[in-house]
Amino acid sequence: MNYQRLNILAIGFVLVLIPAITLGFITWKVLILLFLVYSITLGWGVFDIGSQFFMPTFWRGEKGTVSFTFDDGPDPEVTPKVLDVLREEGVKAAFFVIGRNAEKHPKLVKQILDEGHVVGNHTYNHAYVFSTAAAEKQVTEGQEVIEKIIGKKPAYFRPPFGVMNPKIADAVMKERCAIIGWDLRSQDGRIRTKEATIKRISSHLLKSTVLLFHDTNPTTPDALREIIHLCRQNGMKIVSVPEQSGIAPYHA
Ligand SMILES: [Zn+2]
Repeated sequence: MNYQRLNILAIGFVLVLIPAITLGFITWKVLILLFLVYSITLGWGVFDIGSQFFMPTFWRGEKGTVSFTFDDGPDPEVTPKVLDVLREEGVKAAFFVIGRNAEKHPKLVKQILDEGHVVGNHTYNHAYVFSTAAAEKQVTEGQEVIEKIIGKKPAYFRPPFGVMNPKIADAVMKERCAIIGWDLRSQDGRIRTKEATIKRISSHLLKSTVLLFHDTNPTTPDALREIIHLCRQNGMKIVSVPEQSGIAPYHA
């Protein structure tokens, strides 16, 4: 199921149901039921990044591989520590930066790239938007800020909160970006302790392939080191998102 198919189905149902209701064959309550089913399906598409409801999305790799992704930076305190851990452990990750933060800390964005990681777009200021104009502004300005710093346009986009809608999908497709989701969020944006982050990841690790962290939480770098060790102890192959997805991270 996707957005187009849902709308075609809904229109089809309404076209059939309205005469049937008018002629008294069925009760108008069926329309309410239909509207409920429509809303639930739409909600699933909006809130589940793996649903691929609005556009194709990479969110899951091959079982046994695992990639690391970081959102919401760069942060002058935490991002350098995350980079230290990744360098020491020999792991290449993807960073979905917020344009406004990238503007404030361009050297960190360059460092992410220079150390072999991917820089992806996470909008200009992490706003959830509903209109075409606002969605285009968020996506395009995020692209432009990153291009100005690293000299190339990202081909990876991650929506704030993982929440999609048709306007965001249109803006992302216009920039020819791929949506990169995840199949396990560490919840380190919400859980504040290192132990809680490790516990959350370790209890789902074996069936997960794309991990989401935030390089804005001061406890994340220490948790990250232990999680990398856990992956290796469990025989998981740590790979980069481009390796895992086969999608080039920048536009030529
Ligand atoms: Zn975010």
